[in-house]
Amino acid sequence: MSILGNFINGQAVASQSGRTAPVYNPATGQQSLQVALSSADETREAVRLAHEAFPAWAKVTPLKRSRILFKFKALVEEHADELARLISSEHGKVFSDAKGEVTRGLEVVEFACGIPHLQKGEHSMNVGTGVDSYSMMQPLGVCAGISPFNFPAMVPMWMFPIALACGNTFVMKPSEKDPSTSIRLAELLQEAGLPDGVFNVVNGDKESVDVLLTDERVEAVSFVGSTPIAEYIYATGSAHGKRVQALGGAKNHMVIMPDADLDQAVGALMGAAYGSAGERCMAISVAVPVGEETANRLRDKLVAELDKLSIGPGLVEGPDNDMGPLVTREHLEKVKGYIQTGVDEGAELVVDGREVTIEGDGFFLGGSLFDHVTPEMRIHSEEIFGPVLAIARADSFDDAVTMINDHEFGNGTAIFTRDGDAARQYCEQIQVGMVGVNVPIPVPMAFHSFGGWKRSLFGPLHMHGPDGVRFNTRMKTITQRWPSGIREETNHFTMPTH
Ligand code: NAD
Repeated sequence: MSILGNFINGQAVASQSGRTAPVYNPATGQQSLQVALSSADETREAVRLAHEAFPAWAKVTPLKRSRILFKFKALVEEHADELARLISSEHGKVFSDAKGEVTRGLEVVEFACGIPHLQKGEHSMNVGTGVDSYSMMQPLGVCAGISPFNFPAMVPMWMFPIALACGNTFVMKPSEKDPSTSIRLAELLQEAGLPDGVFNVVNGDKESVDVLLTDERVEAVSFVGSTPIAEYIYATGSAHGKRVQALGGAKNHMVIMPDADLDQAVGALMGAAYGSAGERCMAISVAVPVGEETANRLRDKLVAELDKLSIGPGLVEGPDNDMGPLVTREHLEKVKGYIQTGVDEGAELVVDGREVTIEGDGFFLGGSLFDHVTPEMRIHSEEIFGPVLAIARADSFDDAVTMINDHEFGNGTAIFTRDGDAARQYCEQIQVGMVGVNVPIPVPMAFHSFGGWKRSLFGPLHMHGPDGVRFNTRMKTITQRWPSGIREETNHFTMPTH
């Protein structure tokens, strides 16, 4: 079986570590590949080459960097179907969803193409008599990215396009569960004219990650993954003097007010809860209907819709299924375990996805629905990351807000209502980083920044958008005076004021 290696200094490089991990096709349950788990020395070598490539890349004008990204954008568009098939064959998500992921990643590339404008800095004339001030946004050096399995194209593209556009070089460590897409993106960057060593992909696990967190030549680390690892990445990277943005796990609630358009809310909930088999950090995993009547009507409609959910392989002839398999057998077992936990905790299992059977050995699970879930249950407090939706009934708007604000995570949330005042209050009071009003998955566009609150994000800056440019640059402010015949009359020993 072939072993997927690394992409370092402009070429494919086989790993000599002797360690590998299996990569599966989740739709068949068969192993398709082995991925190399690089050694610490191999990772250090990638960092060294990225460090060596940095001075020349930092000197390339923003306009020229932008032109390479424009070419990369065209190449990703040309290869979008191929990339989507690759994503589906290792992650399991259905083809149209995989293609949507490529599009959302490309939007960050499009944003990064505007770098000559984004990296302009600020300028003030006459901050004092004959004195001007301006700021420079200079690149940092080597930046590193560590990504999760659930968006093998989009999440790396949240990270590297802006870092490269700003003049940094990059070492990417993709998820070992679906590593091929990052390697393909590296090849396309090379084809677009990116110089050798500017973008490198190292496949691996903790051994590689620990090098990226501790090697003094790495200036910044962007991470997306589960909360315990995000916390570790933030603590370790920060302790080694790096700037870190570490995005973690989530439990996203959708509040359904009694006046909401229920059909619209149910349609939105189905996609947000079961799309990509619930393996999205912005998936809605808890529906919070306000009032018993809203809850009963919502539940009946959800049950009817779940009956129609089509589950099957991500790559099929003809129209796509609604939902593909989970990423690995291990993850499938974990999600099934949570369903049993919910039953044991006393929640009502209205629809049991474990009863769905799909021919073959794929990692399939049907959509599940729990009702009467309460905040202290583990199926409410913990992230399941599968096609399991919980209904947690609230007596009032205030109860719904309290339930959500008390939760450990604060990534995304939504409210469905026709009441502008309720929506406005919700946006103001809710302790969550990304909020949708009658929008179920409020993932900000590339020119805004993406990030959660509480234990869904460690670090002050969100990803992409304006925060992405700030994260990937270091500000320098120049205050200058040119000889102009204006003379100070006395020496100043006090703080300069104006
Ligand atoms: P994960 O935390 O297991 O892995 C993420 C990355 O960390 C991988 O590259 C992995 O190799 C590496 N890693 C794993 N264990 C490590 C360790 N002990 N030390 C160092 N590195 C380690 O996450 P996952 O299962 O791949 O992805 C799913 C998680 O990602 C979910 O919790 C989901 O909510 C989260 N996620 C969050 C966002 C967000 O924007 N907040 C977006 C996507 C996914």
